[in-house]
Amino acid sequence: MDYQALAELLFPDVTETPEDMEARFPQRNLPEGAVVSRMAPSPTGFVHLGHLVQGTISERMSHQSGGVLFLRVEDTDAKREVPGAVEVLINTMKFYDISFDEGATLDGDAGSYGPYRQSQRAAIYHVYAKKLVAEGKAYPCFCTEEELSALREQQDANKETTGYYGKYAVWRDRSMEDIRSQLDAGNPWVLRFRSTGSIENQFKFDDLVKGKLTITENNVDHVLLKSDGIPTYHFAHAVDDHLMHTTHVVRGDEWLPSLPFHIQLFQALGFKLPKYVHIGPLMKMDGNSKRKLSKRKDPELALTYYNADGFPVASVQEYIMTVLNSNFEDWRRTNPDAPLDAFKFSPKKLNPAGSLFDYAKLVDVSKNVISRMRAEEVYSLLVEWAKEFDPGFAAKLEAGPDYAKRILAIGRGGKKPRKDLAVWKDAKPYMGFFYDEYLEKPVFEEAFDHAVIADVLNRFLEQFDPSDDANTWFDKVKQITAAIGFTTDMKAYKADPSAFPGTVADVSTFLRLAVTGKTNSPDLYTVMQILGPQRTVERIRAAIAQLG
Ligand code: GLU
Repeated sequence: MDYQALAELLFPDVTETPEDMEARFPQRNLPEGAVVSRMAPSPTGFVHLGHLVQGTISERMSHQSGGVLFLRVEDTDAKREVPGAVEVLINTMKFYDISFDEGATLDGDAGSYGPYRQSQRAAIYHVYAKKLVAEGKAYPCFCTEEELSALREQQDANKETTGYYGKYAVWRDRSMEDIRSQLDAGNPWVLRFRSTGSIENQFKFDDLVKGKLTITENNVDHVLLKSDGIPTYHFAHAVDDHLMHTTHVVRGDEWLPSLPFHIQLFQALGFKLPKYVHIGPLMKMDGNSKRKLSKRKDPELALTYYNADGFPVASVQEYIMTVLNSNFEDWRRTNPDAPLDAFKFSPKKLNPAGSLFDYAKLVDVSKNVISRMRAEEVYSLLVEWAKEFDPGFAAKLEAGPDYAKRILAIGRGGKKPRKDLAVWKDAKPYMGFFYDEYLEKPVFEEAFDHAVIADVLNRFLEQFDPSDDANTWFDKVKQITAAIGFTTDMKAYKADPSAFPGTVADVSTFLRLAVTGKTNSPDLYTVMQILGPQRTVERIRAAIAQLG
C-alpha cells in the first residue's frame, strides 16, 4: 500500500506539514523546571468542585515553578455542548481566582499557542492525521454504526473483549481500491489508529499521583478523527499538549484506562510524553462508606451552590488546599496570616484514591478564614454577595458603610477573633438586629415575672449614660442585679440555684433581648455603642411597653 498516496487521497487540502506546526508553536522560553500545565474542560454547562480541584493543582504546579497555566476549551463534542457554557466556565474560574496566563477568554484568545478552542483547530489536527496516514500509522474505516454493533454483539457472544482490534479491525489492511470506491460513493469514514500493541505486553509507568503503574499495551485501533473530521479527545490531547508544550497533564483518573493508548499515540507521533498527574475523584461519606460525589445526588458538587450560600472564594480555596495536602493545616496554624500562595503545594501529597469532601470541615475552615479578614474586606465581600442574593440587605449595608463596618469589626483582630460567620448567608441572622427593619420582637421567658424584667429595664434607663466605659457600664448592670435581689456571684448560684431568684446573666439577657431581640449577640456594651443612645433607649422603652 502506498501510504503517501492514501494520505493525499484522504487529506488533499492539507498542505502544511508538522514542521510548519513546530515552527508556528516553538518551544517556550522558560526556566529549567518550569511546569506548563492546563485546564482543558469540556463546556457542558456544569462547573463543579472537580474543576476547581484540578484547576488549583495545575495552577499551583505551574505558578510555583515559574511556569505557565493556560485554559483550553475542549469543545469537540457538539452534542454535549450547551450554549453559553464556555462563558460560564471562564467566569467561574475567574470568580475562583484561577489565574490563567493564556488561553480562551471572554474576548477571544490570549496567547501565542492558540487557538485555544479545539473546535477552531481542525486544520492543525489534520496535519498530524495526514502524517500518521502517510507513515502507515492510521487508516480510514468505513464501518457503519450497524456493522460496529453487530461486531460488538458477536464479541459479546464469543465472550471476547469488545472493540475494534486484531481480526475485528476490518478496515486495517484494505486495498486502495476498496477505500477509493467508498470515498467515491461518498460514504462517511473515521480515521483510526493502527495499533501495534499487544495485550500480552506490559510496561512500567510513573504517574505523579498514582505512583508506579503496570500498564498493558493497547491493541485497539481507536478513532482519531470522527466522520466530521473533528478529533477525539485522545488525538486532540496528543496534538494540543504537544504543540502547546504542556509538561504536566493534570486530569481526572477516569482517563487512566486511556493512558496506554495515549502513550502509544505520543510515540507514534514522535512527541515527548508529558508527565501525568491523575487525580482521584472527590468522595464523601455516605453513612459509613465512602462514595464519589455525584452530580445527581449531591448539590454541593456544583460550584453555584457555594456562591448561593455565600462561601467566600478564599474559604473554598483554603478548604481545597486542606483537602489536597495533609500538611496544610499544620502550616496554617504556624502561619495564620500568610497568604495561601505562600504554602508550598506538592502533588506528591495528593491522595491517590481521591479526596474526601466534608461539608462540616468546609464550614469550619470558612469561619476561620472570615475571622481573619479585616472588617473592610468582610464588608465589601458581603455587599457583593448580598447584591446578588439579598438585594434588600445589600441596600441597607450600602446606605451606611461605616455603620456596617463598625458592626463587622466587632470581635476582630487579636488572638481569638469571633467566628460568627461561615457564609455570607449567616450575616443577616447575626447582625440584622442592628437595622430596625430586621429587628425581631423580644420573647421574654415566662420563668421570670415580667414586672421584674420591666423593673430591670427601667432601672437601666434611669442610670444609662452613653459616655460610660465598658467597666462602668457593667458595674451599673451589677448594681441593678443586686438591687432587684438577683446575684452577681455565679459560683454561689451554680452551687445552689434555688437560693437565688436570678443572676446577673439573667439581667444581661433581659437587656440583650430588649436591645437586640435575641438571647445571643456580640458584646452588649459594644452593641449599644454602635446603635447609639437614642436607638438603645427607644428599643428598651418599646420592650417595657411590650411587657406592659
Ligand atoms: N476535556 C477533558 C475532560 O473534561 C479534559 C481532560 C484533560 O484534562 O486532559 O475530562
